[in-house]
Amino acid sequence: MLSLTATQGWSQPMAGTLDVHWNEGASDCSATPQVALQVHTYEPQTFILRQSPCANFEANFLYLLVGSDKALLIDTGAVADPKEMPLAKTILELLPDKDHKKLPLLVAHTHRHLDHCAGDSQFASLPSLQIVPVDLEGVRAFFGFTNWPNEIAHLDLGDRTVDVIPTPGHHPTHVAFYDNRTGILFSGDFLMPGRLLIEDAAAYHESALRVVGFLKKRPLAHILGGHIELDTAGRPYRFGSHYRPNEHRLELARPDLTALPAAFESFNGFYARHPNYILTNPVHNLVALAIVAITVLILIVWGVRRSWRRHRSASPSKSG
Ligand SMILES: [Zn+2]
Ligand SMILES: [Zn+2]
Repeated sequence: MLSLTATQGWSQPMAGTLDVHWNEGASDCSATPQVALQVHTYEPQTFILRQSPCANFEANFLYLLVGSDKALLIDTGAVADPKEMPLAKTILELLPDKDHKKLPLLVAHTHRHLDHCAGDSQFASLPSLQIVPVDLEGVRAFFGFTNWPNEIAHLDLGDRTVDVIPTPGHHPTHVAFYDNRTGILFSGDFLMPGRLLIEDAAAYHESALRVVGFLKKRPLAHILGGHIELDTAGRPYRFGSHYRPNEHRLELARPDLTALPAAFESFNGFYARHPNYILTNPVHNLVALAIVAITVLILIVWGVRRSWRRHRSASPSKSG
């Protein structure tokens, strides 16, 4: 199933359509019933699934790639309960039959954050199923990495190869998937129209260079990430919002990727807005906020003490 040697030349990617309006949630979800899971057929063997912002504010995008021997589900989203989010049921309905059985399914994750793997439990009892572990050791072992993160692994789905590219920086377990059939990079939270949350800036920068280098001579139809967190003007939605009017398009393109290493080289360590994504380091921002809060507190205490002393020295002294 796995091989660590690149084998094929680059053929023209299979075209697909992104002519779709994603479920934008609602300002009052209880008054506006939503379809929990939206399914869009990009091309007959590639499906994009969007979890409703009303089901969970993360509103994850999941991807199902069908080969001739097996199918690959990239991420299982933010909702575990099958009554709230019929993920496994929907995936089974999409899987074609082979030899009078459903095609075997491999469930993999872009990374370990819960909004990308909460749905795993729905698949646990299915036959012909493999789930890639979510911890780093498990990821390395499953894909056969011996020189993480400086090598590329390959998955063979049958007439469809998917390259697995280590992309730590947002999270140590992060990988991106490059599909040789469609020329799409499935980028998870590494690159998306949203907040690129940086945990390890040096690793993130290296990952950006690795992906740019890997795709330099390969066709790149689209970059499809795990979320949309910006509106069409590039402004982020309020964190936790269930309503996303005027969403930015899901797909990013090669210029967004090639600009990423330079974005890291000029990053101030806190927050930087780029046309189609925002670089932000939540820990640095929290520390900065804490320093500002403590400084303000010190100034308030100093000001109160000062005015209290003035008040004392101005008031006439009492004699007993
Ligand atoms: Zn994440
Ligand atoms: Zn995420």
